[in-house]
Amino acid sequence: MNLLIMGPPGAGKGTQAEVLVKELKINHISTGDMFRNAIKEGTEMGKKAKEYMDKGELVPDQVVVGMVRDCLGQPYCAKGFLLDGFPRTLPQTKALDETLQSLNIKLDGVINIDVPRERLMARLTGRRVCRNCGASYHVLFNLPEVEGKCNACGGELYQRSDDNEEAVSNRLDVYDAQTQPLIDYYREKGLLKNINGDQDIKKVLGDIVASLKG
Ligand SMILES: [Zn+2]
Repeated sequence: MNLLIMGPPGAGKGTQAEVLVKELKINHISTGDMFRNAIKEGTEMGKKAKEYMDKGELVPDQVVVGMVRDCLGQPYCAKGFLLDGFPRTLPQTKALDETLQSLNIKLDGVINIDVPRERLMARLTGRRVCRNCGASYHVLFNLPEVEGKCNACGGELYQRSDDNEEAVSNRLDVYDAQTQPLIDYYREKGLLKNINGDQDIKKVLGDIVASLKG
C-alpha cells in the first residue's frame, strides 16, 4: 500500500506515522530522514541539497523531488511506503504525481490527520521551559510538581515567545494556507482520507486502517 500522510503541527502526525507503518508493514519515508541519508550517502541529489543548505538557502523543489524519486525507486519501497513531510505545496504535489507516474507507482490514499484548531492551540501553547536549566514541561501533558517551578532545579518556568498564542496561531495559518490546496487536490482525486486526530492513538490508527479498506 502506497500512502501519504499530512497533518498540522501539534496533530501528532509523527507518532501516528510510526504506529501506522508497523501495522501495515510498509516503509516510513520522512523527508527529514531522506535528506540526512542522501547527504550521508553522498548521492547526486544529496550533494546538490547540501550545496543549498550550506549556503543557508532553501533546497529547490526539483532537488527534493529528485530525492523522493531516488527513494521510491528502491526495491525496499516496492512493498509499500508512507510518505511523510512531502509534498507541502501544490507545485510539489504535481511534481510528485509525475514522478509516481513515471515510476509506475499508484498512490492508494492520502491520510489527513484533522484536529480542531482550539485543541492544536492548547497543545502547542502549553510548553513551559525552565529559565535556569532549560528543562521542558507542558501544562496538559507534563506538569511540574509545583506550579511554575522546575522539578530538577526549582527554576522559574516560562513560555518561550515562539510558543505564545500569536506565534502559534500564525504558524497554523501558514500551514492551512499552504495545505488547503493539497487537500482539495487529493479530495478531487478521491484519495483523501480525513481522520479525526483528536482521540486516542489506537483509535486514530483503527480509523485510518478502516478508511483504507472502504
Ligand atoms: Zn530547571
